[in-house]
Amino acid sequence: MTQGFDTLQIHAGAEPDPATGARQIPIYQTTAYVFKDADQAARLFNLEEVGNIYSRLTNPTVSALANRICALEGGAGAFCCSSGHAAQIMAFFPLLEPGRNIVASNRLYGGSAQQFTNTFHKFGWHTKFVDIDDLDAVRAAIDDDTRAIFCETIANPGGHVADLPAIAKVADAAGIPLVVDNTSASPYLCRPIEHGATIVVHSVTKYLTGNGTVTGGVVVDSGKFDWSKGGKYPSLAGPEPAYHGLNFHAALGAMAYTFWGIAVGLRDLGMTMNPQGAHYSLMGIETLSLRMTRHVENAVKVATWLEGHEGVKAVTYAGLPSSPSHAKAERLLPRGAGALFTVALKGSYDACVKFVDSLKLFSHVANLGDTRSLVIHPASTTHRQLSAEGRVAAGAADNVVRLSIGIEDVADIIADLDQALAVANG
Ligand SMILES: *Cc1c(COP(=O)(O)O)cnc(C)c1O
Repeated sequence: MTQGFDTLQIHAGAEPDPATGARQIPIYQTTAYVFKDADQAARLFNLEEVGNIYSRLTNPTVSALANRICALEGGAGAFCCSSGHAAQIMAFFPLLEPGRNIVASNRLYGGSAQQFTNTFHKFGWHTKFVDIDDLDAVRAAIDDDTRAIFCETIANPGGHVADLPAIAKVADAAGIPLVVDNTSASPYLCRPIEHGATIVVHSVTKYLTGNGTVTGGVVVDSGKFDWSKGGKYPSLAGPEPAYHGLNFHAALGAMAYTFWGIAVGLRDLGMTMNPQGAHYSLMGIETLSLRMTRHVENAVKVATWLEGHEGVKAVTYAGLPSSPSHAKAERLLPRGAGALFTVALKGSYDACVKFVDSLKLFSHVANLGDTRSLVIHPASTTHRQLSAEGRVAAGAADNVVRLSIGIEDVADIIADLDQALAVANG
């Protein structure tokens, strides 16, 4: 990193608009871009010149956002998508063909577990879920058709921290990339590429935008993986029939994955972010470090207070010394373990429902990473489609609620939790 994080989150990927001098990045609300002449058009389509053709592929506002997040994550290239879930499909699309599989942590955001289980099958892709702490189990799950390992930095909702350097070593030994969902941490708290990840994905919907206005995603490539070694990635390092036989790795080197993601992935799947959304996300990112610092401060205070409450059975926050992930968090997330955690109440399903319904400052929503404090009961919402065992494995048992601690005055957050716990406990 040439400049500091606080500088990059404001300046990376942007310069005053060359046409007007506008200091903020304009919302380039346009579908297409006029070619200078037929020769330039041909060069753009041949990837001999980098430029805008059509906004399903690239758009200057969206590219500014991708380049900013790329700088914050320390990547080589990045592209934005219409949602975090779109980013996950887009991250795997260059790597997998029918019959291939990924090895994924069994502690994932419920929507990701669902996407990897049922929707992946429609592409002929498969997922082997493992306890990502058990490196022998990870190694044993990798077979000749495995093309990636996937985990979350801080698992949503259980607050489990993945030992990224150790998992990256397993991936390296197998000649496959480690793909990390860094949504819950944000690049301010953890930069997975520095710990050996090849690819980072985000739901931009969450902390990066930060105020609950946008649905978006991003895929960041480290540029460090050798796609040509081992022959496992023909889309990236063979003649690509979807792009007139171009060998992306031979032609574009460290930018092969990013260019493929745009030129083939976004072109054919069309999971594109819109410029208006990108603009809101750019505004949000300018204050990422300030927000994350306050999110973490508040989360530590709230989690500590909850842990001492008589109505609470357990708090799974990696920022607490009682967490089995605490040592990993101190090593991988020195600025704090985020602001998302679960609380197990002494009561069960019904107590959780009463608790959620009694909170006033907290909003009961299926979202996280907002400036506002948010709550949800996973068993009755995000994780209800999983089996009971699947819910327990994902840290979403019936007596568990998930809190996303906002940046309000912490005394007000605690007062709201206090009164709702009193109601829940009758
Ligand atoms: C929200 C979320 C997603 C999905 O992102 P969308 O923007 O809602 O599609 C993926 N992973 C994690 C960890 C999330 O929190």
